Amino acid sequence: MPEERVLSPDIQFIRDLRKGGGETLKKCYQCATCSVVCPISPDDKPFPRQQMVMAQWGLKDQLLSSPDIWTCHNCNDCSKYCPRGARPGDVLSAMRQKVIKENAIPRFMGSFVGDPRFTIFALIVPFVFFLVVLGLTGHLHIPEGKIVYSKFFPIPMIEIIFMSAVGIATLLYAFSLNRFWQNMTKATDKPYLKTFGPAFVETIKEFLFHRKFEKCEANRDRKNGHMLVFYGFVGLAITTTWITVYYYAFKIHSPISLGDPMKWFGNLSALFLLVGILLIISNRMKDKGIDSKTSSFDWTFAILILLLAVTGILTELIRLAGIASLAYPMYLLHLTFVFYTIVYFPYSKLAHMGYRTLAITFAKMRDWDVE
Ligand code: SF4
Ligand code: SF4
Repeated sequence: MPEERVLSPDIQFIRDLRKGGGETLKKCYQCATCSVVCPISPDDKPFPRQQMVMAQWGLKDQLLSSPDIWTCHNCNDCSKYCPRGARPGDVLSAMRQKVIKENAIPRFMGSFVGDPRFTIFALIVPFVFFLVVLGLTGHLHIPEGKIVYSKFFPIPMIEIIFMSAVGIATLLYAFSLNRFWQNMTKATDKPYLKTFGPAFVETIKEFLFHRKFEKCEANRDRKNGHMLVFYGFVGLAITTTWITVYYYAFKIHSPISLGDPMKWFGNLSALFLLVGILLIISNRMKDKGIDSKTSSFDWTFAILILLLAVTGILTELIRLAGIASLAYPMYLLHLTFVFYTIVYFPYSKLAHMGYRTLAITFAKMRDWDVE
């Protein structure tokens, strides 16, 4: 006799998906065109048709513990060919955002950072905090003489604030990812752990070269923007470490000469980030004949990354122009965007990196196990 299963639909989950950019999900009539045209969907476990019906039925637990929604790279080939305008690519994107919110530790941070209505408050928090710290330490004024940002906000002070905040955020992110992993494991009866290492390495290789993006048809040009943003961030992380080594190990203090290799590397990374995010934004604005809508969450994040890059570049240019009254406020603004990007990352679009890596690793382990 076939196994009897009781399905418990979660109506609120359906509402949340529709609010988060998947408002078209009810239009799907299960023709399966999307699974046929998806360049990534495997033959033995096709998506996103199945995920569309699961979403219509409100099967929250099954969907949020599914690694398959992360295999999707949001190319929107499916949305282009969907005869009903159900926009499966956008529905899957709303599901991934929901996974981040549901696994967020603490939970309220997932809603706070994940909701564009609160973005301005999320920015005000670090900005006011910096003002208070500067006020309490007697630095809340434009310093005299040559523009040197460490006269305004001393490096050890910045390091204490950022290192403790990033340390806490990383720990919470690790807990959130662990919860996600446990959910995926619970949803299956096998742990698949014996192939974790090779599956993880294979996933990282795909990630570094953005191989899945090459398979897209409708949105092929997304690859360049994403790669530039990714390597821009990697370069800026290396630059930050480099500055710290200069400061503590070699006693080289800012401002560092423009001819220094660290400056070249940092400026090139900032340029990568700027060009990459401009490509992503212009790509989203192009009419490619795809019935797809960028969610307000995605727009907000893209604009914040643009502001991060622009304020960073302006901070340097205004310093070189010698306009102290503009340079220090711009620096403070830039620090606020830096804080937003790296301290809120477990709950923002950047959190995708960890979730996607684990989900694709898990999916590979599962598929290899079957083979
Ligand atoms: S999302 Fe569109 S293409 Fe996919 S099954 Fe539903 S109606 Fe068909
Ligand atoms: S957005 Fe692209 S990768 Fe994702 S399901 Fe649709 S066709 Fe497949």
